[in-house]
Formats: sequence, structure tokens, C-alpha cells
Amino acid sequence: MKDFRYLPDVSTLKLDEMACIGCGICEMLCPHAVFEIRDRKARIVDADGCMECGACANNCPSSAISVTPGVGCATYIIQSWIKGKENASCGCDCC
Ligand code: SF4
Ligand code: SF4
Repeated sequence: MKDFRYLPDVSTLKLDEMACIGCGICEMLCPHAVFEIRDRKARIVDADGCMECGACANNCPSSAISVTPGVGCATYIIQSWIKGKENASCGCDCC
């Protein structure tokens, strides 16, 4: 999903491709199409699209994904939809 971005190069999302069994759950669950399955392995194709919701890591059967949940950043994104980017703030130290 290219329409909703946070800050470039700040996502804590990490993928251990060796541990991945290619089940496709992350690709199916991610609301921002961050993953694609290629050659039976998950690949991160849009790291900056990650809003750190944690759904992929919580449901990966081989614990190949790690991400630090970014609740404040999700709040920022929602506020930016409602108030516009210039008036959005999540209240944490990150933005
Ligand atoms: S959910 Fe985990 S094991 Fe399944 S494709 Fe994604 S990274 Fe690989
Ligand atoms: S943490 Fe959420 S937004 Fe980020 S890759 Fe995982 S499912 Fe997608």
C-alpha cells in the first residue's frame, strides 16, 4: 500500500529468510502488502509501508518475523488521516 507512509527507514520489522517456511500467512495478513512470497520464501518488498501492528510476527509459525509494536506510530497515522499530516501527533517521542 503506497498511499500511507510513516517515516522512511525507521521500521523495526525484521525477517529471517532462513527460518521462513513460505506458508504465506504474513503476505495474507499484512494490511499494507509489506510481504510477497517469492521462490517459497517471504520477502519484505515495502518496509516503509509497515505500521508495526505486529500481526505478521504474532502469526508466523516459524517465528521468522520480529517487529516492535509501534502503537504511537499507528496513532500518528490515524491522526494524519483525520487532521492532516501537519496537525498529527501521537504523543510519544517518535514524532
Ligand atoms: S508467516 Fe512466517 S513462515 Fe509464513 S511466509 Fe511469512 S515469514 Fe515465512
Ligand atoms: S507489522 Fe503489520 S504492517 Fe508491519 S509487516 Fe507486519 S502485518 Fe504488515
